[in-house]
Amino acid sequence: MEERPHKVAPGTYLIEVPFVLGLKSKDKESVTLCYLVEEEAGWLMIDSGYNDGTSFNHLCRQLDFLNTSLKQIRWLLLTHYHPDHSGLANRIKAASGAEVIMHQDDWSILQATVGSSEVWNIHGMIPWARSLGVPDPELEGFFEIASLGRDFFPRGLDPDIILRGETNPVGDSGRLQAILTPGHTPGHICVYDQENSIFFSGDHVLVEITPHISPSHMTSQDQLKQYLEALRKVRPLDVKLVLPAHERPFTHFRQRVDEILAHHDHRLSEVVAAISDRVVTPWDIAREVEWNVGEWSEMDATNRVLAVRETLAHLQLLEHRGIVVPVERDGPKGYRLANGSR
Ligand SMILES: [Zn+2]
Repeated sequence: MEERPHKVAPGTYLIEVPFVLGLKSKDKESVTLCYLVEEEAGWLMIDSGYNDGTSFNHLCRQLDFLNTSLKQIRWLLLTHYHPDHSGLANRIKAASGAEVIMHQDDWSILQATVGSSEVWNIHGMIPWARSLGVPDPELEGFFEIASLGRDFFPRGLDPDIILRGETNPVGDSGRLQAILTPGHTPGHICVYDQENSIFFSGDHVLVEITPHISPSHMTSQDQLKQYLEALRKVRPLDVKLVLPAHERPFTHFRQRVDEILAHHDHRLSEVVAAISDRVVTPWDIAREVEWNVGEWSEMDATNRVLAVRETLAHLQLLEHRGIVVPVERDGPKGYRLANGSR
């Protein structure tokens, strides 16, 4: 991890905030890449990092290196509600008075998830997981992953600026636009700096990982459809530098968008081929297709949960396109190919 923040563009600094809990990819330490953008009234910070003392101290040390402090942060924009992005929002807001910005559609989910009370919404999780064909002994994995982030969300957060539109100006220099890019989460936003052709992509476009599209019992039926549309929506932007929330900055924006689109096309045809002439559940298919995290038999519960949800996203899109039809029956919902789709 970088010990010091570094300048990635004029008036723009990258700060790596580690997470202590989380998905380690290839044994690399997990970090959220947060950004400070110089605006007229102070910093606009993009994403906050995990809600953990170590992460917070690390962030403060990085600000010291820049000869600045939390007090200079005027806005904190959360690209989405996941805890590695929203986690420190309360601490930063309390220390800085920064206005927290997020999109309505993620704010709703955050409220439904942690709310402002002690209520933790995992009740719907188990029946929902069962409906995907997850066998009983594996349900615990779903429950665990739902509980995992519990202490890392910013509880009782009260955002100051709730974005509702497709594009919204943010900050005060006039060069930054928040663009709604649903898919990874329903209210995910990216920030486009049109003056410098910089795209802060959050988890919408990452350089190596294909961003995870993971429907849950709280999201709509067409997350993957929305995601692909949101990729096509931003593709024409003039982007010279992509500043994502994980991995590393990169420049080949349009090429990367095309690779992700192609990945999903490929995955959709893999799912169709795997269904063949059977009636299947998302669980059945997830066991059969190839995953880049490794063999199904060696996957831990967390990765299996993610794989099943990702498979569901593809089945939902195939259903929307009329290639796959749902089969009502006792027990988990089944899917089969529509007549003539093979
Ligand atoms: Zn993330």
